[in-house]
Amino acid sequence: MKDTVMTSSFLSRTSSKATELNAKPSPDFAVKLAQTKALLQLANVEFQPLTQASSLGAEDVVITHLINQLQLDIPVFVLETGALHTETLALLERTQAHSRTPIHVYRPQQEAVIQFIRDHGQDAMYQSMDLRKSCCNIRKMAPLAQALKGQRAWITGLRKEQSNARADVPLQDNSEVSTKDLTKFNPLANWSWGDVWHYIASEGVDYNPLHDQFFPSIGCAPCTRAISLGEDFRAGRWWWEDEAAKECGLHVKK
Ligand code: SF4
Repeated sequence: MKDTVMTSSFLSRTSSKATELNAKPSPDFAVKLAQTKALLQLANVEFQPLTQASSLGAEDVVITHLINQLQLDIPVFVLETGALHTETLALLERTQAHSRTPIHVYRPQQEAVIQFIRDHGQDAMYQSMDLRKSCCNIRKMAPLAQALKGQRAWITGLRKEQSNARADVPLQDNSEVSTKDLTKFNPLANWSWGDVWHYIASEGVDYNPLHDQFFPSIGCAPCTRAISLGEDFRAGRWWWEDEAAKECGLHVKK
């Protein structure tokens, strides 16, 4: 833990604009953007009702911006786990105030959270993977099930480049159609990190200031940290666990 705290405070003193550091479009960015827009428009017409899952991270603010720009009938939902950073909560408020499309917030059952903390303590997620997953089940998976109830499809910001486990993320994932009658769209699957930030910079998209402090992904405060130069993207999440186990269940394939 000590190293992490030192790294975070060092980085916060030396933070710089994520847009300036990262905005580097691929040579075929225009093609990717057109493909993304076409996919969102197709999903909007053929897969209603559908919704976008947003963690308010860089990829998700790009997708919400596109939904608003294209005036699509796709509401957004955010899982407010009760453990988000203040920066994320502030961005949530700003997004709700300015978005054309509705931003719905889903929260965990308070009694379940209180009971879990009473039984295992505030820092249970660091004690074992089972307890970490139990916390994710209460704070994320149960509210996710509510958010997806009655939906025919959902949209995520998954990208192939994010991790080895995501290297085969398709633009349209039909693997849950037979079991849950749910299609998942990943319209940024082929985008690079540089593409994401090029879009944010060129469109002036409001983004989470944690990215200026070297947070590659946005999640719960106890389980998300800044990364150092050369570290893998997923090193910012559940850094005390094995690489292969680093998913909260939202995108795990059975
Ligand atoms: S990411 Fe951490 S704090 Fe958030 S639900 Fe999972 S274990 Fe709990």
